[in-house]
Amino acid sequence: MALPFKLIYDERYDLNLGDHVFPSQKYRLVYERLLHGNIAEDRDFLSAQPAKDEDVLRVHTPDYVRKLKTGSLSRAEILQLEIPYSQELIEACWLAAGGSILAGQKALRDGWSANIGGGFHHACPDHGEGFCVIHDVAVAIRRLQSDKAIERAMVIDTDVHHGNGTAAIFAADKNVFTLSIHQLHNYPFVKPPSTMDINLPDGVGDEDYLTTLDAHLRKAFAAFTPQIIFYVAGADPYREDQLGGLALTMQGLAHRDALVMDYARKNESPLVITLAGGYARRVEDTVAIHVATIVAARDAATKKAVGN
Ligand SMILES: [Zn+2]
Repeated sequence: MALPFKLIYDERYDLNLGDHVFPSQKYRLVYERLLHGNIAEDRDFLSAQPAKDEDVLRVHTPDYVRKLKTGSLSRAEILQLEIPYSQELIEACWLAAGGSILAGQKALRDGWSANIGGGFHHACPDHGEGFCVIHDVAVAIRRLQSDKAIERAMVIDTDVHHGNGTAAIFAADKNVFTLSIHQLHNYPFVKPPSTMDINLPDGVGDEDYLTTLDAHLRKAFAAFTPQIIFYVAGADPYREDQLGGLALTMQGLAHRDALVMDYARKNESPLVITLAGGYARRVEDTVAIHVATIVAARDAATKKAVGN
C-alpha cells in the first residue's frame, strides 16, 4: 500500500559526521526503515532540490548567506554551529530547505507531507547555531507566502529545545503563529518569545506533557486559523535523550504526534512534518521515534479519508 502523501528525502541529507552527538545518519536510517518496514514504497518518496538563494534570502541576511557559500564564517561562528563546516554541509542545508519547500507544496495538495530531514529551528537570520545552519521551515513558509499559496502558517515545535530561530524570524509577523513546547532549563539559554511558549520543568513525563500540550493547542487553534502547519517533531523529549531532560516514553511521543495531527485534521489544515532533533543513547530509538511520527500521519490521513 502506498502512503496517501509524499515523503521528501535525499541521500545527501546524511553529513557523515561520524562520532558526533548529532546522528546525521538518522535520515538514511529513517528512510530505510520506512522502506523496508513496509510503511512506504519507492514511489512515496520524492527527491529534494536545493532551495534557491532567493528563497534562503527571504529569511537570512545577504552577509550570512555569502559567508556560508564562500566558506568565510569566522571561527566563532563555526563553533556556534557545533558541527564542522564543509561544502557538503552547505549543500545538505540548501537541500533540506528545498525539501521543506517541496513538502509544503505537497501538503497543500495532499493534506499531509513529511520532509525526512529539516526542522532546523535554531537558525537565525544572521547566524546559525546548535546544529542548525539555515531555517528550512521559515524558508518554506516565506516561499509559500511569496507564491501566494498561503497567507497564514502555524509552527508547532515539540523539540525538547526552544525554537529560538523560529521565534526570532517571525516575531513581528502576525500571519505566522509559533508555538514551542520545550524544557525551560535547556539550550538555548536566551529564548526570544514565540507566539505561545510552553516552558516545562525538568523531568516532565507523558501524562503531564500531553495534558499541557492539549490545553495549549486548544487555545492556539481558538486564536488562529492556519492554512498550513509545520510540525517540528523533535525526537528529543524522549527520556533516554542525551541532550534532553524530559521523560517521555516512546508511547507518549506517539500520543503527542497523534494529538498534533488530530488538531490539524479537525481544523482542516495541511500539515508538514520535519524531523528536528533526536540524540537518544541508541540511535535506533531516535529512528523509531521519527518513523512513528510518519506512521501517525498515515493513520491521521486515513482517518480523514473515511470521514472520522
Ligand atoms: Zn532539540
